Order: sequence, then structure tokens, then C-alpha cells
Amino acid sequence: MLEIRPNCEHCNKDLPSNSIEAMICTFECTYCKTCAIEIFKNVCPSCSGNFVERPIRTSKMVEKYPASTKRVFEPKNLEKSKLNSEKNNNILPQNR
Ligand SMILES: [Zn+2]
Ligand SMILES: [Zn+2]
Repeated sequence: MLEIRPNCEHCNKDLPSNSIEAMICTFECTYCKTCAIEIFKNVCPSCSGNFVERPIRTSKMVEKYPASTKRVFEPKNLEKSKLNSEKNNNILPQNR
């Protein structure tokens, strides 16, 4: 089950369980769309995998299976992640 983290790890924007802006990698590193796509070019700065849209957990399900309230806020080194993105974003994620 996904943790559904409450915020963007890079810019700290709120990403509630019904947000259509939340993007996650396979380890559930969580970013807003702006950070995931425009800044990191769809390359996770931590694991170099791709991002997909986080599925919505409906309000009914979130009552039963609450989203995480533990904020992860660790802004990334832009210089380093830019190099990593440039190295990887022309390679399909399945070939990285
Ligand atoms: Zn962000
Ligand atoms: Zn990752």
C-alpha cells in the first residue's frame, strides 16, 4: 500500500491524497509535477527511475486507510540532479 506522502520532497508543496499533481517513483519519492517534470525531467534525483502520477485514494478509502502525515522535505542539489537528469532523460526508464 502506498504511504501517500503529504508534500513535495523538493519544494514542500502540499500534496493531499486527492492531489492530481503528485508524482511518485518506485520508492515513492514524492514530488509535485513541476519539480518531477520541469526540474528533474522525469528522472528521480534519488534513484534515477521515472515518475508516474500517484493514483488518487478516494475520500472513503482514505478514512479507512489514512495517508501519511510524515512530511519528507529534503531539497535536492540542483547542480547534481541536473547532471543526473541530463545523463538519464534520453534513456527510456526500462533501459536505465
Ligand atoms: Zn515540488
Ligand atoms: Zn526515486
